[in-house]
Order: sequence, then C-alpha cells, then structure tokens
Amino acid sequence: MTEPPIAASSLAAQIDAAALGLEAQVIAWRRDLHANPELGNREFRTAAIVAGHLRALGFDEVRTGVAHTGVVGLLVGGLPGPVVALRADMDALPVAEEVDLPFASKVRADWNGEQVDVMHACGHDAHTAILMGVAEVLAGLRAGLRGSVKFLFQPAEELPPEGEEGGAKLMIEQGAMANPTPSAVFGLHVTSRLALGVIGYRPGPTMASADNLKITVHGRQTHGAMPWLGVDPIVTSAQVILGLQTVVSRQVDLTQEPAVVTIGAIKGGLRENIIPDSVEMRGTIRTFDEGMRDDIHERVTTLAEAIARGSRAGCTVCIKKNYPVTVNDPALTAAMLPTLRRVAGADQVQLVPKVMGSEDFSFFQQLVPGLFIFIGVTPESQATATAAPNHSPRFFVDERCLVSGVRALAHLACDLLEAVPASA
Ligand SMILES: [Zn+2]
Ligand SMILES: [Zn+2]
Repeated sequence: MTEPPIAASSLAAQIDAAALGLEAQVIAWRRDLHANPELGNREFRTAAIVAGHLRALGFDEVRTGVAHTGVVGLLVGGLPGPVVALRADMDALPVAEEVDLPFASKVRADWNGEQVDVMHACGHDAHTAILMGVAEVLAGLRAGLRGSVKFLFQPAEELPPEGEEGGAKLMIEQGAMANPTPSAVFGLHVTSRLALGVIGYRPGPTMASADNLKITVHGRQTHGAMPWLGVDPIVTSAQVILGLQTVVSRQVDLTQEPAVVTIGAIKGGLRENIIPDSVEMRGTIRTFDEGMRDDIHERVTTLAEAIARGSRAGCTVCIKKNYPVTVNDPALTAAMLPTLRRVAGADQVQLVPKVMGSEDFSFFQQLVPGLFIFIGVTPESQATATAAPNHSPRFFVDERCLVSGVRALAHLACDLLEAVPASA
C-alpha cells in the first residue's frame, strides 16, 4: 500500500460533498423502492429504475436481465487503473409490513403460487438506493477516478421462487464478474443489531453457510394398535432427530468453528390409530468452514441412515447446498479498516461477532477477495438488543444510515483503486 497522493485526498473530500448533496435524493429513492417492493426474480420495476439511472449517468456499459432481473453497470474512470466491484441486492420478502410509515408497503404478489404481502423487511431497498447514490457520486467524479467500478445490482438474495435459479451464483454464471474481472468486491448490509452510525466488520468467516436438509424416513403402514405388523417411521424419525443433535455436540470440533443442525419441520401421519408409511423432515445446516460443512453433511447422512436401518426403516437424505460461508478476505479487511474508520469515525467502527444468517455475497468472494460490512440502522431512541430484527414486519431503517452507506462504499471503492497497482 502506498500513501494516497494529494489528488486522492481531495477526491475523498469531493466524495463526501457529493454524497451529502445527494442525501435527499437517496432517501427519496429508498422510499419509492420501499413502497414498491418486489420479490426475488421479480424485481422488474426496481431493475428498470436502476438501469435507467445508470444510463442517465452515462455509464460505459449497462447490462440488464442478468440472472433474470439483475443489472450490471460499468463506470470507467478518467485515469487508468484496476477494477473494483460494488454489490447491492434488490429483492424483498413475503412479509406484511407493520411499520407505521406514509410509504409503508401495501403490495401483494404471488410467491410459489400463493398471494402474499410483500415488504422490504431485510432493507435491500436501502442497499439499492445506496448503490444508486454511489453510482451518481462516482459518475460525477469520473474524470479524476482511477480505474473502473463495476456495479452489481443483484436479484433474489433471499432465494428465488421454488424451481427457479437466481441470485449471485446465477449472475456469476452469466458473466457478471467477467469482462472485466474486478480485483475486489465490496458489499454492505443494514442491520438492527447495530446503532445508527456504527459500521460493523469482521475478518475471515463472518456469515454462515446455509444448506437445506430433507430427510424422508420410509416405514411400512400398519394399524396403530399393531405396530409389529409394520415399520414405524414416526418413532424412527424421533430417534433420527435426537441423533442428529449429537453431530454438532459430540462429533464436531467446536473449538474450530460453531455449527448448527436444526430440524424445523416434520410431517407424517393422518390420524391417531394409523402408523403411516413415511415421515418427511426439513431442516437447515449452518457452518463457518467449508471443510466442516462437507464433513457435517457426511455425518448427518450416515447417522440418519444408520439410525433408520436400526429400526428396519429406509431413509433418504437430501442436502441442497444454498450459500457458502461469507468469508471476508483478512488482508483486504485490514487494508480497508482505515477507510471505514475515516468514514464513520474510529469509535464507531466495531468488530462484530459471527452471524448465523447467510449471504450469497459469498459466491462473489469465492472468485475475488471481498469485504462485506454491516451498517447500523437503529435510532438512538431504541436499544439494538430489542429493536425489531431484519425480516421482522416491524423492521425499521433510520434513513440517516443511507448517506453513511453511500460514503462507505464510495470511499472503499476509491481507496482500493488508489492502492492497487494498475496492472493488478
Ligand atoms: Zn434477509
Ligand atoms: Zn438481506
């Protein structure tokens, strides 16, 4: 890392002035997106607004329809240099908003064949508005910008509808990270767990891998009064569920990383005096290490199968890998920490604990070094410990976080472009 030249520090001042000047506009964008939320792979209106904005700013390239509704924009600076990518997710959730706001969502939409209420309950409206703001700030300063900035507006972070592909993985498959490939990628997430003005970061494994588990125990149906005439999948399932609790507690080295195996749904049987043919269970597996992830998958499978075999039942274990571990590149995190401290104030930048939630930003980080930070949105009047969390119908975003988000991403991008040699 070299010291940023004089021009760079004046660029930093220009970023701050431009971000501040744009604050009202970013708030207006966020309110419009908040009132008009769209579910995963259905972000048609949002994507049109984003693409129109990037084109109006004179972006060198605007690709639409990436992973269904994604938008990839490229802004080439006036000076030669490397490429950095910034990512925002755009999708909302099937949640009925309970926040009392003039722009609260009243939208309903189809989700897997059901009509549901839709709300930006994870704050992706804030992420999209922030990145639109960064696009405008950097486009206004492009003559003095070293290198290029790639803008990734991503659909379906909260998983696509059943039977569809989507999200970061599909964007990558459709070339979002190629031509040009960035040297690094940055993203952020608003969170109720941090107070307004606080930026949270963590080097290394930060958010968990998340995989779906489906176990079907195959028995043989019989009268509830005569279990010996069949094979009881209900009792077998009970043994499987309890057995699975020992994978994390007895078989995994928990000093390495934490992990979770949860069964969240179980379905089997129709009435009290019939032992059914089969029982289906669904669950989730969370880890913070790709090796542990594969190991736990193997242990869950062999244990469930062995327990079922002991009851003379059959067992089918299906594990669908969703999102990998979100790993912040330690060197990149260390290199960007001074930037975060400059943006938020040193005392407002906090090392945060691991999060058992997951993020498909992890797919971008598998290709290039990435840093995913958290921005606090809980106003002073509320305690972060009790504020309605992301995904709650009462999740509230204090809009003063938006300009902090614009500044954070714009400074991260510019500082990286100034620091990386042009050949990188
Ligand atoms: Zn979410
Ligand atoms: Zn989210």
